[in-house]
Parts: sequence; structure tokens; C-alpha cells
Amino acid sequence: MFAFRCRTCKQVHEGIPTFGWDWPLQYLEVPESERTRRCFLSADTCVIDDEFFFVRGCLEVPVVGEQQAFSWGVWTSLSQENFRLYEDLHDVPKREHHGPFFGWLCSHIWIYPDTMNLKTMVHLRDDGIRPFVELEPTEHPLAVEQRNGITLDRVGEIYEKMIHPPKNSG
Ligand SMILES: [Zn+2]
Repeated sequence: MFAFRCRTCKQVHEGIPTFGWDWPLQYLEVPESERTRRCFLSADTCVIDDEFFFVRGCLEVPVVGEQQAFSWGVWTSLSQENFRLYEDLHDVPKREHHGPFFGWLCSHIWIYPDTMNLKTMVHLRDDGIRPFVELEPTEHPLAVEQRNGITLDRVGEIYEKMIHPPKNSG
């Protein structure tokens, strides 16, 4: 199994890690006292002001030589129409022939240059698996990594940056 010693805390970490967020960034921008009234939030979906529609997905990055991908649990905003379809298909086991849906990335993955509002395609997956989020193939470093894959060394580096964030990171 993949394991590495973190240079910061000296602990050995095992397995390919995953990081994710439980809400789109826009949810945090609604004042806390107004969230109950203005927001709906579940493990997979979020609606703000009946106007903005978000779904959670997996922005997966292949790891060279490994079966398992590195996965960012991210949110994207969909059009109302596509969001309704997503909801209608939520409990349908075979659904991957629908879509993909265009989505704006709504997670700030702060170890990269700004990731907010990167363009994505959201691919539904069968059997209750969260959708696969495919970035537009630009030169953004995260898009390059999703296209080309990353090494295990890079996985270790990402892990270390994420669990020992500098102050003022989101
Ligand atoms: Zn560490």
C-alpha cells in the first residue's frame, strides 16, 4: 500500500487520500444567520435562494501506476434545468447515459491558483456513485494534472499541503 512520511509532522500516512468540502463556497458567503432561511444543503446538493443550484462530485486525478485515483470532493453549479434532472435521477441506478452537464467549479482548492468558476463537465455515474467532474482541458495546473495524472510523490506533497495548511488558507 502507498505510504509516505510527512515532512512536516513526521507521521507515516497510508493510502491515497481524498479531500472534500461539505458545501459549495457560495454557501459560506451567505451570512450564517440567514442560511436556514435561504439555503438547502444535503450531502449531495445545495440550493441558495431558489436560484443557485449545486451538486457534489468527484474531481478525480489519475495516479500514475495506481488503480485508484486521487479524488477531490468538489461542488459545481448547474443550471436549474440540469439540476432538476440530476435530482430526478438521484435514486436511479442506471443513469450515466444522461448528460454530461455543464458546471462551474464552486470549490476553492487553495493549493492551486484560483479554482473558482473553472469550467467543468459533470458526468453522472451509475449505482449511486457521485458524479465525475471533468475540468475543461486548459493550462490551469489542476486541469493539467487531471489530464496527465500525478505521481505518488505529488500525492504526498498534496496531502502534506492540505493537512498542514498555512494560515489564511480557505
Ligand atoms: Zn503531516
